[in-house]
Amino acid sequence: MKRILKLVGLAFIGLLCIIGFNTVRYKPNNTQRVDITVPDVNAEIVAQKLSTAIQFKTISHPFGEPGRPAAYQEFIDWLEIAFPNASRAMDQTIVGGFTPLYHWKGTDSTQSPILISGHYDVVPIEGDWSRDPWAGEISDGYVWGRGALDMKGSVVSYMHAIDLLVASGFQPQRDIYVAITQDEEIGGAGGAAAVISYFQDNQIEIDWSLDEGSFVLSDIISSIDADIASINVAEKGYMTVRITARGQGGHSSLPHRDTAVSNLAKAIVQLQEEPVAGGLTDVSASFFDTLGPHMGLAERVLFANTWLFKPILERVLSAQNTTDAMLRTTKAPTMLEGSEAENVLPQEASVFVNFRLHPRDNEQTVLNHIKSQIHQDHIDIEVLDVSGASSVSAHTNDAFERLSASAQAVFGDVVVVPGLTIGGTDSGRYSKYAKNSYRFMPIVFKADDIALLHGKDERISIENLRKAVQYYMVLLRGL
Ligand SMILES: [Zn+2]
Repeated sequence: MKRILKLVGLAFIGLLCIIGFNTVRYKPNNTQRVDITVPDVNAEIVAQKLSTAIQFKTISHPFGEPGRPAAYQEFIDWLEIAFPNASRAMDQTIVGGFTPLYHWKGTDSTQSPILISGHYDVVPIEGDWSRDPWAGEISDGYVWGRGALDMKGSVVSYMHAIDLLVASGFQPQRDIYVAITQDEEIGGAGGAAAVISYFQDNQIEIDWSLDEGSFVLSDIISSIDADIASINVAEKGYMTVRITARGQGGHSSLPHRDTAVSNLAKAIVQLQEEPVAGGLTDVSASFFDTLGPHMGLAERVLFANTWLFKPILERVLSAQNTTDAMLRTTKAPTMLEGSEAENVLPQEASVFVNFRLHPRDNEQTVLNHIKSQIHQDHIDIEVLDVSGASSVSAHTNDAFERLSASAQAVFGDVVVVPGLTIGGTDSGRYSKYAKNSYRFMPIVFKADDIALLHGKDERISIENLRKAVQYYMVLLRGL
């Protein structure tokens, strides 16, 4: 007995040694910092330009309501006035009706081109704003208005960066394409899709693209002191499914025990019982693995020893909706349909469930999940809408290194991680064409800013505009 106890004790000490050893060895991968000079930028001028850009009501209306073409054309005309040097140096082609696509010729035609893209359409106004959403007011260190953050601020910043570079006599080595798309907020079927068609028609291969989809996150992951530049290498897909339960119709004074509605209710409960399988693998693993070494001791012990603690970590990360969405395909029942009168039993009742597909899943794996969860007859499953998750771009190549080095040069001590964009962007389309696609808006974004995206009092700080222009200048100078 004593001998057994002794063996168990030794095994336990051995285990602690392994855990300790792994934790000590678990360090940030300190890539060699490249010495990059960051140019001075007069951010007041950028703020003025953004203020004007906001005043064009380039609104994408959901549900097919048409926008105002005149506003789009006026915006395009204004670009030439606001960015005269950029407009002179780059050839402009209008694709998809209202999407300017610029070509900035490089000195070395053997290198494959890259694409910088952003959208200038905005979502409609909701809620009570404290400022006029269309005036582009500059006050309290911010530019206020619809689209300031999402994403006329970025568009103005990269156009201004190019304008300054051209004025200084700079010409890139590789060809650079610059797109300003017209309909990202309603799916990109006109803008980003036309950009890709143009590349296809002209046999232009794009090495990598850069668009929105993440930020320099500040105070968002509480266990890390530093800001996190999450340069996202993939984005989730979208799928909506209608699940219909059937039952006998009739008058509600003579109901059967099981009705279409009660069958549907059971189906929803069954569907919600288990999440879609997921966890710390592929893109989700690289995100947390890069962040782990910067966390507190307790977290470091866990992340350094995923061979032992992975199940615990996955449980902890799944408990919060924000981190859970990084690990798996999420599902959300959103709309219900049943009888049209309160005293009529419907023959059918339906629920719409919206899935956001993790790159490891596809239409079939999601359908398999639904079927494995719902154990009932008289249920129909219909896929209404699906666009798969993007491919996962490389994060150990020159492009990612350049994007990271530029972020460290401009934002100082930031932790750069390859992340996953939870929503959909134009990059979903670009990633099907370009070799790699990256999603990163070079501005500091705090937890409170989430409410500003598509929300009221949308604004961007003048300091962020300065950083964004500096980032694009540093990035483009290295290309
Ligand atoms: Zn956007």
